[in-house]
Amino acid sequence: MKFGGTSVGDATRIRGAAKIVADAARHGGVVAVVSAMSGVTNRLVEAALASAEGCGRAGVELRESLRAQHAAAIEALISDEAERARLTADVEQIAGDAATLCRGTAMLRELTPRALDAISSVGERLSARLMAGALKELGLRSVAVEATEVIVTDDEHGQAEPLMDETRERATKRLLPLLAEGVVPVVTGFIGASRGGTLTTLGRGGSDYSATILGAALEAAEIIIWTDVDGVLTADPRLVSDARTINDISYAEAAELAYFGAKVLHPKTLRPVADAAIPVWIRNSFEPEKGGTKITPAGHPSLSGVKAITAISDVSLITVGGRGIVDVPGVAAKTFTAAASVRANVLMISQASSQNDICFIVNAGDAARTVEALRRAFASDLAHHQVEHINVDSGVAVVAAVGERMRGTPGIAGRLFSALGRRGVNIVAIAQGSSEYNVSFVVAAGAMRDAVTAIHHEFNLHRRDSRFDAETRSLVEV
Ligand code: ADP
Ligand code: ASP
Ligand code: MG
Repeated sequence: MKFGGTSVGDATRIRGAAKIVADAARHGGVVAVVSAMSGVTNRLVEAALASAEGCGRAGVELRESLRAQHAAAIEALISDEAERARLTADVEQIAGDAATLCRGTAMLRELTPRALDAISSVGERLSARLMAGALKELGLRSVAVEATEVIVTDDEHGQAEPLMDETRERATKRLLPLLAEGVVPVVTGFIGASRGGTLTTLGRGGSDYSATILGAALEAAEIIIWTDVDGVLTADPRLVSDARTINDISYAEAAELAYFGAKVLHPKTLRPVADAAIPVWIRNSFEPEKGGTKITPAGHPSLSGVKAITAISDVSLITVGGRGIVDVPGVAAKTFTAAASVRANVLMISQASSQNDICFIVNAGDAARTVEALRRAFASDLAHHQVEHINVDSGVAVVAAVGERMRGTPGIAGRLFSALGRRGVNIVAIAQGSSEYNVSFVVAAGAMRDAVTAIHHEFNLHRRDSRFDAETRSLVEV
């Protein structure tokens, strides 16, 4: 069971999460994975960045705010004096570590990826201890476990990848004996360690990934991701107020949604469980009596058509173009080699058949260095006007309509784009991969909400009874 930031956001939430774990632990072994209390990781990263600018106060202020927040939670959660004292000493120690790391960073005015990982990991190291304390308070046996002991990763700081064989070995050795003794391990989400033992992180929002890595390593019967919404919804509820919970969804559909910005799941969440086919549930920790979304390999195979819409605005559109690129072999290869050389994450590619332009989407944070790499790679083509421009547009958003067998259902693309036309949304670029799961397109960032709402409405995703009709075996269009 993984609990996100809001699900452990304060003492009341931690108590609620502990109660959920305790109820489940009566029926079988449970491993808990926790995020930092909400907002903490952002504050850690901000303090690290301020320290790198030479701000000497950032670390001290951070330490004080971490102390205050976690001490208040301990005060409200833990009645046992000895346990309180132990936890308070742990908080002092860990918050002190964060301040020391910030001070070192400020003195050097340099923030290495390794130091940033060490600072950003502090929130989970604190929350895991609080959660274990809360479980003990409910009469369970529990112990906080540092993920550095159980998740082995490569050494890509900030976006480390698990090494599954080693992780399986470590995790089973450390966690199974605890489960056998009836102890609930509470593992820090988001964190791992390289083979050499240096702490790494899995990327922002990575606690979901921690949960499935551990679930796969331990061959869990199921994985439950407890969050602050009822499940995977038909659209981001912040964009579409009548978005609805999807009961069943396939790995591929959920992965596609996560990849295109549905924040409810980290994009890599479903990778570790793909082979073992372990069901993953998304449930609401605020309303644990609700069923949530079940993610399985097949999802709801009889359901065709658009299932959900997602959008991502923190992206840039890069265009490489000019008459000269027509018929010149290797332009695409050169373009994407350049993007890969700076580790830019290419989210979407579109090229008109005239070949005048190749355009692609990268995360906004990757745009500047991608353009630099392209200008270097095409330096002589630019000089000879074979390539006329390399442009970047950051005022765009990618919208994706996702659904199993969407392409197999004729007329979907037509309806989708007609709905956008009626709403007056201009489409900048379109990509439909050969996967049957997704049609994605680029619009101006300002039109993103309209685009998502228009499609959501066109496919009746807000209607409960539009879900599935057994006779026609498709979404009913009421
Ligand atoms: P946690 O802290 O539990 O990891 P996150 O904030 O990372 O939670 O993710 C949950 C949030 O994802 C929701 O509050 C919601 O605003 C957002 N979200 C975006 N798209 C979707 C979607 N399609 N379904 C559900 N939630 C979504
Ligand atoms: N605490 C980390 C973050 O905010 C990881 C997570 O919450 O999943 O990115
Ligand atoms: Mg999250």
